[in-house]
Amino acid sequence: MADTLAQRYDEVLASVRAVCAEVGRSAEEVRLIAVSKTVGPEAIREAIAAGARDLGENRPDRIVEMAGLFPEQRWHFIGNIQSRRIPDIVGAAALIHSLYQVRHAEKIDAAAAALGKVQDVLIEVNVSGEESKSGVTPKEAQLLVEQCAALPHVRVRGLMTMAPQGDAQRARECFEDLAALAASIRAALPSDKAAAFCELSMGMSEDWPQAIAAGATMIRVGRAIFSDAFSA
Ligand SMILES: *Cc1c(COP(=O)(O)O)cnc(C)c1O
Repeated sequence: MADTLAQRYDEVLASVRAVCAEVGRSAEEVRLIAVSKTVGPEAIREAIAAGARDLGENRPDRIVEMAGLFPEQRWHFIGNIQSRRIPDIVGAAALIHSLYQVRHAEKIDAAAAALGKVQDVLIEVNVSGEESKSGVTPKEAQLLVEQCAALPHVRVRGLMTMAPQGDAQRARECFEDLAALAASIRAALPSDKAAAFCELSMGMSEDWPQAIAAGATMIRVGRAIFSDAFSA
C-alpha cells in the first residue's frame, strides 16, 4: 500500500489510466479532482507538488481560504450551497458542481455579473432517490437547465451525482442513468448550449471505476488520495 500522499496520488492516476484503457476511453477525457476537504494546507501543497491541478472543497469558508492560498489551481465547489455565501463561492470556484435550486442559480448569476465572470455550474441530480442526498429529481433536471439558460452569467456544463455507497452494481446503474439523462437533455438544447453541456461529474474513492465506465468526465476523489487508511 502506498504510504505517502504523492505515491497515493500517482497510484490513483495510474489506476485511472488503466481503467480508461480497459473501457476504451482516453485518459484525457477524465479529470481527476482531488477533494481536499479533510486536510490542511500542507497536504494540499503535497498534492499540488504531486501534480494535482483540480481541487475540491465542500464548504464556502474552506474554498475561499484554500483558493486564496493556492490561486493557481482550479477550485471546485462540491458542497451544499448557502444563499448568503454565494458571492464567496462564485469568487473562488472555477466550477460549482452542486446547483439544484433556481433561486440559487439566480443569485449565482447576479454574483457572477458583479465579478464580470460567467460561472460554470453543474446540476446536481439525485438519481438514486435516497432521502439523504441532495439534488433535483431526474424529471426536474431539464427544467432547471432551461431556467439557467436564460441567465447570462451562468453556464451549465453538465450534470453531477453521488451514488449510493457500498454497492458497486447500484452505483454503476446510477452513473449510467445520469449519463443517459445528460444525453437526452443535451439533445434538446440549442447547439451553442449543447456544446458546453458536456461534463459528467460522478465517482468518488469507492466507485470511480464504475463512473469512468459509465462516461464520467470528472471524478471527485478524497480519501484514496488524502487518507493513508483508505483501501479500495
Ligand atoms: C467528500 C466528497 C467526495 C470525495 O469522497 P471520497 O469518498 O473521500 O473520495 C466527492 N464528492 C463529494 C460531493 C464529497 O462531498
